[in-house]
Amino acid sequence: MKYFRRDSKVDTYFFRNVSIEIIYWGRRCKIFNMKGIPATLGGHVLVQQQYVADTFVQRWQARQRAILNAKPTIYQQDYLIYQMLQLTGILTEPIFNIIPAADVGAVRAMVRMIAGVEDYARINAHYSRRHYFPSLDGAHAKRCCLHCFCNRGVRMLDSEWHAVFDCPLHVAARSRFRLASGVTLSSASPSAPVDLVRCICSFHNHKRNLEHFSRFVLNIRSTRRHHFRQLTTNGPSGRAKVAKRIAFRMWRDALQLQFYGSILP
Ligand SMILES: [Zn+2]
Repeated sequence: MKYFRRDSKVDTYFFRNVSIEIIYWGRRCKIFNMKGIPATLGGHVLVQQQYVADTFVQRWQARQRAILNAKPTIYQQDYLIYQMLQLTGILTEPIFNIIPAADVGAVRAMVRMIAGVEDYARINAHYSRRHYFPSLDGAHAKRCCLHCFCNRGVRMLDSEWHAVFDCPLHVAARSRFRLASGVTLSSASPSAPVDLVRCICSFHNHKRNLEHFSRFVLNIRSTRRHHFRQLTTNGPSGRAKVAKRIAFRMWRDALQLQFYGSILP
């Protein structure tokens, strides 16, 4: 009598997470024995679907643990997600469990903002603009919101929460968001990362608000790009204005004068 037995582990529920014991021509005729099938499996759920869902949760939680262990600083990309995890603990579900009805560009802009990969000086220190403004590499303005710096003479950290809650450059986008969603954005003054985290957490299961918030973030991005383009022109509202403001700031710092508005950490 022929007897063949194999225990194999490969990359699906059937072939990896489950120990498989195949016996051909065995005396007990035990052909297929599976161990480790999830308890939730049953009914109409396919084993492949369950495997994909479980793999997603496993990888997402591993990513969250990596962010928590890394403890990113305010100048790094995952800082917002780190703040969110500090508030909520390790999540089993995605941050957004629903698909907003906004267009792909708006949703992508929002996701990029939360991941911290958008063009904010808290991360990039205006590195891409130093070609036009060489003085930006100093400590005077390299992480500043250029709108607040040039128009109000105030040094504010150029960050996502400053753009969403505080920056006068986005007053119009903010009021459009308020009119569309009925939500008034409120924060401490000046705003803090936790204000934005609470705002995102309050929207994460609200399809309509998430849709409007995505459009709001896209508006912020468009306004910033337009503003940066304007600052790089040769006109009086362009490079000369930035250079003048930086020179004045350097002179003021050299004299160690204290004025209202130095909030940059
Ligand atoms: Zn600003």
